[in-house]
Amino acid sequence: MLENLTLKEASDGLRAKKIKPSELLNDNLERLKNVNTELNIYLTETAEIAKNQASEADLRQEKGNFLSLLDGIPGALKDIVNTKGIRSTSASKILENFIPPYNATVAQKLFDAGLVLTGKTNTDEFACGGTTEFSAFGVTKNPWDKERVAGGSSGGSAAAVASRTCQYAIGTDTGGSIRQPASFCGISGLKVTYGRVSRSGVTAMASSLDTVGPMARTVEDLAMVMEVIAGTDINDSTTPKIDVPKYTELLNQDLKGLKIGIPREYFTEKLDDENRQIIQNALKEYEKMGAVLKEINLPATKYAVAIYYIISPAELSANLARFDGIRYGLKPEGNVDDIADQYYKTRNQGFGPEVKRRILTGNYVLSAGYFDAYYKKALKIRTLIKQDFENAFKDVDVIMCPVTLSSAYKIGAKNDDVLSMYLEDAFTIPASMAGVPSLSIPCGFNSENLPIGLQIIGPQFSEDKILNIGHQFQLMTDWHKKSAI
Ligand code: GLN
Repeated sequence: MLENLTLKEASDGLRAKKIKPSELLNDNLERLKNVNTELNIYLTETAEIAKNQASEADLRQEKGNFLSLLDGIPGALKDIVNTKGIRSTSASKILENFIPPYNATVAQKLFDAGLVLTGKTNTDEFACGGTTEFSAFGVTKNPWDKERVAGGSSGGSAAAVASRTCQYAIGTDTGGSIRQPASFCGISGLKVTYGRVSRSGVTAMASSLDTVGPMARTVEDLAMVMEVIAGTDINDSTTPKIDVPKYTELLNQDLKGLKIGIPREYFTEKLDDENRQIIQNALKEYEKMGAVLKEINLPATKYAVAIYYIISPAELSANLARFDGIRYGLKPEGNVDDIADQYYKTRNQGFGPEVKRRILTGNYVLSAGYFDAYYKKALKIRTLIKQDFENAFKDVDVIMCPVTLSSAYKIGAKNDDVLSMYLEDAFTIPASMAGVPSLSIPCGFNSENLPIGLQIIGPQFSEDKILNIGHQFQLMTDWHKKSAI
């Protein structure tokens, strides 16, 4: 039963000595055992490591010297977060047996805070995708409906939390990969401001867009994780020296007079009707709390998906060039003729079809003849998207809109039409392009009993503000309390 506790409840229970870390872990592992075979959430389970970590936390509890509010609490890491001595695959065959020699900063910070690691979660290969169907190790199923995808690419982390195998999980979001699976699985997820959380040791997808962030059942839980993982890191020069607020102490601000921008471009006819209605009901809830709604325009939104699929493959192709079959990772089967053949065979055998498609696109848009026409132009349009947000935030405090066009779709539904899958990211990519923080919280269920998410976007480094706004909603509603299992 203890697996049903939120992170905050578990933390309070541990501090009051009502429960022990090892008891909490046992219940989580029991659940994990029951669901993982069917849902394919974890690529590597780390029960033995977790048991040791929990017994150490038991001792700290006895002595009354917990390391942090997260100490002794089970959590999971997306498998692109590298962990020392623990297999980290990025859901790719090319790294199937890779055991990293060091921890990613985010993993190290969490271990130092007393993380009890339940395991490494499934993802699309190198985080390229929106369903986890592009994982080399099979799709993760949605705990609300096993015929549907959990979303992606952090689908494993979302399903791990939604099926209550751990109290929180770490995901990454480059174009929507925390917010969309959070929305599909009925949990809360935060894409942070670019640079707020260190990317060091997290396998790079598109370096100018990648962010690392928390996923949990409640916004309050996200705030607790953020206090541990946010901040500057000597190993990641994109993490500025900006103080990390005490997020958990800023969750009590009332919303009277809050100006909420509603972007016209996000409420197009492509938006599912039920989804639209559910979002509108959520906005009414905010009006009841004293907020004021204002329609706004984000005119460059229409270019976002197109330029994302130029910029992100360009960066991906450069990042994945390190997988050459020589330094580490897969060694190709059979004889190789020469170095070029070695590269060819490694990549041909090691990368899946979606990653190959993106490497080809990336090389194409970066090649001499097309660089100006595609890549440079895309960067210019990216600036327009950024300016859209800067202009909007002169008039409103935050922006609210849907996370996705629809709820979780059936496994295989978009297999023959990858473009329609790409277009599904239309509402999450713009905030990624602008580098601004964005929260996804459950705000209702459709007639098929599938969760729908509300997206709350704020200016750079306003995580404290959007977390408070999300938390106030969860004080008034109970969508986040519904259980998939
Ligand atoms: N679904 C998007 C893609 O396929 C986003 C991925 C991500 O955020 N990692 O690129």
